Amino acid sequence: MSQESIRAALTWIDGDFRRGIEVGIGDDGRIASVSETSEPPTHDRIALLPGFVNAHSHAFQRALRGRGERFERPAENFWSWREAMYELVEEMDRDSMKRIAVQAYREMRRAGMTTVGEFHYLHHDSRGDWGFDEVMLEAAAEVGLRIVLLNAFYVSGGIDEPLGPAQQRFDGRSLEAYWANMDRLQTTVDGDRQRLGVVAHSIRAVPPNLVADLHEESRVRSLVFHMHVEEQLAEIEACREAYGTTPTGVLLEHLHLDDRFTAVHDTHTDPADMARYLATGARVCLCPLTEANLGDGLADVPGILAAGGRICLGSDSNARISMLEEMRLMEYGQRLRGQQRGACRDAHGRIDRVLLDAATINGAESLGVAAGRIEIGRLADFVLVDLDAPTLQDCREEDLASALVLGAAEEAIAGTLIAGRP
Ligand SMILES: [Zn+2]
Repeated sequence: MSQESIRAALTWIDGDFRRGIEVGIGDDGRIASVSETSEPPTHDRIALLPGFVNAHSHAFQRALRGRGERFERPAENFWSWREAMYELVEEMDRDSMKRIAVQAYREMRRAGMTTVGEFHYLHHDSRGDWGFDEVMLEAAAEVGLRIVLLNAFYVSGGIDEPLGPAQQRFDGRSLEAYWANMDRLQTTVDGDRQRLGVVAHSIRAVPPNLVADLHEESRVRSLVFHMHVEEQLAEIEACREAYGTTPTGVLLEHLHLDDRFTAVHDTHTDPADMARYLATGARVCLCPLTEANLGDGLADVPGILAAGGRICLGSDSNARISMLEEMRLMEYGQRLRGQQRGACRDAHGRIDRVLLDAATINGAESLGVAAGRIEIGRLADFVLVDLDAPTLQDCREEDLASALVLGAAEEAIAGTLIAGRP
């Protein structure tokens, strides 16, 4: 049932919780009005926020939870985890893919997420016909989650290396085959709850000239573009050896970067590269829980923020699905790294605004979705926070957003509305 208006006890507007706000929802699933009211709340123990936007997910990796966590060799890292992931890839069929994706997406909604950017590179089942692409759209539809299918192009197993056995299932074949598949998918997505985006998996998986061609066509089609960038030092070393510069250097040299481009991770990005990258308007997506799980390292969040960078957040490997924890670790990782508090602060010393923006508006903009903020014309996607949740008891109203981000768990999330519907 669609709700015509919501009067929550507290509504997150322009970086503060406000009382006495009525949010009107139009038949088109967008916010039709935001006004002050003296009417009693319709939701008197609820705080209303924009729905969380998960800008980077590989849903199938949810099936790896707990599985790559026995350590028998002395040095275990991202690359040994990748072997476990490839084992899983070879087991997947359409039924298991669907089941796992539905499971992951349900968990996302319970964690307050209303949109997922599914960075999708596992295209083929044993028949090799892009069949998993529709499965992701079907899984999101089943859960009612808004999805941007970030469809990945992947053609090499490493720089100048052929695809390995498991990687055959990622094979983008050629740009012609990729775009033919995108054209086919474009006729199946509804353009509202389901949209497409373009991905070059990484500099390991796509040579620079093809990244540039792919990116140019994405600009012609006005589609967002995402790419894994500089998660691992080994990738940077291999890139320097092959191309004489860093992956970010390759992007700056070969692409017309703009604000439709999002680099995922940037864990080890050189500060000078980062300054040039951010000056183009391009964005950064961090996946703090996954980066911690994989032992990637920590991106220079204060440096990115100081340069005006817009950071969004993703659950990536889905080893844990919690936007509250992603926000928390974005700040806490930097506290541990720099032995200082308040790394993600704005000019007023507020971290709650910066972290909630990363979880909402920045993710929405990165995915090209008109959500992420409670204002007229935006999608009526909300997360409802339970003010009676035990983890929020005895918190002052002015501290509520910080308490939510740093102290609350999923039990504080009473539900989500997408296009105004539960
Ligand atoms: Zn990823």
